[in-house]
Amino acid sequence: MNADAPIDLDHAATTRLCDAARAAMEPFLGDRYGNPSGSHRLARDAVRALDEARERIAVVVGCAPGELVFTSGGTEADNHAVSGGMPPRPGTPVCPATEHHAVLDPVVALGGAIVDVAPDGRIDLDRLAATLEGIDGRVGVVSVMLANNETGVVNDLDAVAEVVAAHEPEVPAVPLHTDAVQGAAWLDLTERAAAADLVSLSAHKLGGPKGVGALVVRGPADVRPLLLGGGQERGRRSGTPDVAGIVGFAAAMQSVAADRDDESARVAALRDRLAEGLSERIDDLHRTVPPDVETLPSSLHLCIGGVDAETLLFLLEAEGIYASAASSCSSGAQESSHVLAAMGVDPRLARGSLRLSLGRDTTPAHVDRVIEVLPLVVERVRRFSGTPAGSTT
Ligand code: PLP
Repeated sequence: MNADAPIDLDHAATTRLCDAARAAMEPFLGDRYGNPSGSHRLARDAVRALDEARERIAVVVGCAPGELVFTSGGTEADNHAVSGGMPPRPGTPVCPATEHHAVLDPVVALGGAIVDVAPDGRIDLDRLAATLEGIDGRVGVVSVMLANNETGVVNDLDAVAEVVAAHEPEVPAVPLHTDAVQGAAWLDLTERAAAADLVSLSAHKLGGPKGVGALVVRGPADVRPLLLGGGQERGRRSGTPDVAGIVGFAAAMQSVAADRDDESARVAALRDRLAEGLSERIDDLHRTVPPDVETLPSSLHLCIGGVDAETLLFLLEAEGIYASAASSCSSGAQESSHVLAAMGVDPRLARGSLRLSLGRDTTPAHVDRVIEVLPLVVERVRRFSGTPAGSTT
């Protein structure tokens, strides 16, 4: 990367295709283009490639190869897990208010129950227990994300699984789903997602290609196919699989697993340096998640008083820095994110929200540049809008 290249601090949105994934995919974008549903040599080659990819990913996830169902990404995996397929599984789906819309929206569409979170962003276990207790009839699924895409807050799935198991000894047991789309790049899923019966993954968040993901379906979890048709994936997900994409997904998962501990420590140190540098130079800057709450090592979520995120991002981009805000623009109006709202963040402060997400290509020089530029940009926004620091708290 040259010195003038943009600095990407929006890795939670997506990541660059890693070298290992690109190299692994290359032959399948060329001569090895077979459809695994056929019976000739090209097709058998594709079947072998899929089998190998499945085995590699299964090792990293800590599941059996046969428990992996390849999907078109995290959104499909989440919709599949929450609905249970087609027709939807009976019972009420339950999730916390901070889930990604790929979980939240199907839960709402199916008339499910939403659980409040604690102000630090983690699911409130007492409220989960009370919500399960209050449901009339069966609970269909409990879906709790491993790590949040806006704040990086990590949930303790073992603790969630205990609450679900204690709810009532339902037969069959209530499945626990986790959206591990963000967590998979940084956390050891063999431990941190072991308690989940259903696990959603997405390749593009961890150095793989876009449009590829998987749903892990373990044990007795009741899941029917969501997509019906040619019966691929042993009847669990119809549609010709993206062989090149899946091979790239496996290579990316393996590479992430190979350097996870070292990279997590390196990136967490950079994140802490960034947080410290910005806190020293910007007044009225708030870390959205208290530092004693576990977040992904890559995540730094800030709320900055007296600025509006849209202007901040625009000026940051003009300085060659890409970031994102946890706010969305609807009909021209700034709306605070549902995640920050669920955490009870003051909506005026949430207007100045900034998600900085580091990645494997983030360097100390990137962090230093952001520490230099962001305070100046904040000053400019405040001067422009006539809003002094401290006026939003
Ligand atoms: N879940 C979470 C937590 C995410 O961050 C995302 C992507 O933004 C998704 C699901 C959707 O994944 P995909 O982009 O692969 O559909």
